Amino acid sequence: MKYQEILNHGSKILKLNDIKSFNLDSEILLSLTLKIDRSQLLLNLDKRVENKEKKNFYNLIERRSNNEPIAYISGYKDFWKSKFKVDKNVLIPRPDTETLIEQVLDELDINSSKKILDIGTGSGCILISILKERKRCSGVGIDISKKAVKLAKYNAKIQHIDNRIKFLNSDIDNFCRDKYDLIISNPPYIKQLEINDLDKDIKNHEPKVALDGGVDGYCKIRLIIKKSSNLIKKKGKLFLEIGINQTRETLKILNLNGFYKTRIVKDLSSKNRCIVSTKI
Ligand code: GLN
Repeated sequence: MKYQEILNHGSKILKLNDIKSFNLDSEILLSLTLKIDRSQLLLNLDKRVENKEKKNFYNLIERRSNNEPIAYISGYKDFWKSKFKVDKNVLIPRPDTETLIEQVLDELDINSSKKILDIGTGSGCILISILKERKRCSGVGIDISKKAVKLAKYNAKIQHIDNRIKFLNSDIDNFCRDKYDLIISNPPYIKQLEINDLDKDIKNHEPKVALDGGVDGYCKIRLIIKKSSNLIKKKGKLFLEIGINQTRETLKILNLNGFYKTRIVKDLSSKNRCIVSTKI
């Protein structure tokens, strides 16, 4: 069987299983199987696949047909300027979250040496991306999941910034170590009842604990803002990612906890995505 034929067959199976990006995904999965990049694959469509490769490819096609995201199958996701290792224990980094990174970097000049806390760090993608851009800053990332913390540590290590970063397995409720100049969080903010309406890729594979914002969607946002007001230095800034239509209520919670001078930032698709506020 030639590359072209097996590619077409893979696409067909994915299409039958309602995978929207069936052509692209078939190409990505065949490149992964053959350990070549996509351009190499497309330049060699007349080459033949070996039996072992064929078997491995169909195995990946089956996983994708089952809605497993490409990032979990490949084990990696590009975010900001780096590649992050990901698995089913952490949320897959989203391009929208880069809005948060831009805001934080705007705030920190190149020589600043601030201390940053990342609440619910997951793969560590946010904190690691920021510390890579600001060489004198240091940071702590906490996560309720032990497995996420292990992965975040691994990501920091392969990016060679493990000397300026600490990852701890802790719930925000029980965390009271130090004071920080900046606090960042991309918390779980989806209403419990709306999790079922999400794409199968997300609801069947990404960790619920990273998505579930409780009955009204604000359960973690409330907790994070409240705790941050004690963990942040005076005039420190809090950078929060929020969901669609959560701006007004989040602003209210911020004000109640002493955060003012608020700025709202839109994401790539012009939705309110990030709130920056200052502790007075
Ligand atoms: N901070 C991580 C990210 O943005 C995880 C966020 C989460 O688990 N809600 O990818």
